[in-house]
Amino acid sequence: METADKIATDYDVIVIGGGPAGISASWELRDRTILVLEKTHRLGGRLYSISRGDYWLNLGGHLFPAAGSHMRNILHSIGLDIIRIPGNKFAIHWAGKVYAPKAVSALPFTLPMTLRERITLAKVGMRTMKAVKGWQEAMQPVYGENNQRRRARVARYLGHLSFRDFLGRLPNRLDALFQSASRRAAAEMEDQHAGVGVSLFGAVWAGKGDSMALNLNGGSGRLGEVMMDLLGDRVQYQATVRSVRKTGTGVTVSYEVGGVERTVTAAQVIVAVPAYQAAEIVQDVPEDVRAVLKSVQYGPFPTMGIITDEAGPMPYDDIYAITTPDLSFDMFFNHANPLRTGGPRKPGGSLMVYSGGTPARELLKRTDEEIRDIYLADVLKMYPQLKGHIKETIVQRWIPGNTYRPANFNFEPMLVYCERADVDIHFAGDYFAEIGNMEIATGSAHEAAKRARARLMERDKTGMRRDSKPRQVA
Ligand SMILES: Cc1cc2nc3c(=O)[nH]c(=O)nc-3n(C[C@H](O)[C@H](O)[C@H](O)COP(=O)(O)OP(=O)(O)OC[C@H]3O[C@@H](n4cnc5c(N)ncnc54)[C@H](O)[C@@H]3O)c2cc1C
Repeated sequence: METADKIATDYDVIVIGGGPAGISASWELRDRTILVLEKTHRLGGRLYSISRGDYWLNLGGHLFPAAGSHMRNILHSIGLDIIRIPGNKFAIHWAGKVYAPKAVSALPFTLPMTLRERITLAKVGMRTMKAVKGWQEAMQPVYGENNQRRRARVARYLGHLSFRDFLGRLPNRLDALFQSASRRAAAEMEDQHAGVGVSLFGAVWAGKGDSMALNLNGGSGRLGEVMMDLLGDRVQYQATVRSVRKTGTGVTVSYEVGGVERTVTAAQVIVAVPAYQAAEIVQDVPEDVRAVLKSVQYGPFPTMGIITDEAGPMPYDDIYAITTPDLSFDMFFNHANPLRTGGPRKPGGSLMVYSGGTPARELLKRTDEEIRDIYLADVLKMYPQLKGHIKETIVQRWIPGNTYRPANFNFEPMLVYCERADVDIHFAGDYFAEIGNMEIATGSAHEAAKRARARLMERDKTGMRRDSKPRQVA
């Protein structure tokens, strides 16, 4: 490392991490003197897509929340549009064929299976549906409860047992089906609590209206791209934060950029990186909070985006998502589906596949080329029509992929810390719920930004404001 550049620069707020949480906090505090420190060359974190003509190559998160959510409010304020996904979201690849019934309740009667499998599927299906109802009830706001406490209450729903304990042991093919579906949490059903598994099913089955059935027009990467323009030189890219320390009346942040160590100070810091990374960089935090950050679980996701160049219709045109229990990936997505809403079908398309849990860990031991070949062989097995029409593939390694709660996870010390009015280091991220998603990330960041703003207003009122002229960071 070169000589350290130790000139302190004051900001009202430093935001660490430029994923959905960091974007949400920065956007909310844009009227203040802010600096965003992001490790990579882009904003967006695990929301990532790359434009390709009429389509986009999707590599990360893609399902957007309903109207009224924090994420939707941000998108609205920057002029980005949501599009509906008309296609089937619970199709299943079963015994070499794709089944896409109109209702999820039709699955036990649609899939070819033995009588024992059929009865078991109907039974566990009903048990899961009942639990989904309970989860939906738990989601209802309770008067007088703040968002953070509501989320924590929902996160505890069926949190005392694993999803495996909840489902029990199923006949082999059914077990593989539920395991594949559970891996959307990036974990095996043994490792996630029952509420995590149930919420995964709830999000897909309950997706009436526009809930969980939406994409961002142009791809999820558009959020980061537009924010890069709007936040401009308030963001320092390729900046890896090494430490966050409370010093005097402010917080000192040390980061490395281009092999040079820099140190900056701010009145408030919002740490919007995955929990275990936050535990590594933040020095001054109560030990029980650090212990929570360290114990948050993440699983990896290898994903592969695929651009195809077929001339005409494909059998999956009316399908968005297929669970694929007997293949090398767990899910298959047709990202062109939201664009097939009438008029002549455009040639080509965009697909994505990914794996979670144990198979993901095994695959990630291989090279990108090996993963591509393994995935492509199975994509062609599903749809031989694609032979000769694979135009481009990109393999993406997500470590971390998603966060999930194991049974009996205790997040309470973090909640207590977030309720304190005397701290200048705040935390945000998707790990504030039982399973990670962009709405939890942006919602927790909205609350962190509110707390930081309250502290700034307190400081401004007491006349402690230091004149801050931030130096150009780029
Ligand atoms: C394949 C995949 C599919 C998904 N599907 C969906 C979906 O359909 N719907 C949904 O809602 N969610 C989905 N998710 C989850 C969603 O993407 C995440 O919940 C969300 O991105 C979390 O936002 P975040 O800001 O908390 O973390 P991140 O997105 O991980 O952002 C953290 C940022 O911090 C930066 N950073 C890390 N360490 C440092 C450091 N030391 N210094 C500076 N910067 C640092 C990282 O580079 C990153 O940009 C999916 C995720 C994946 C991987």
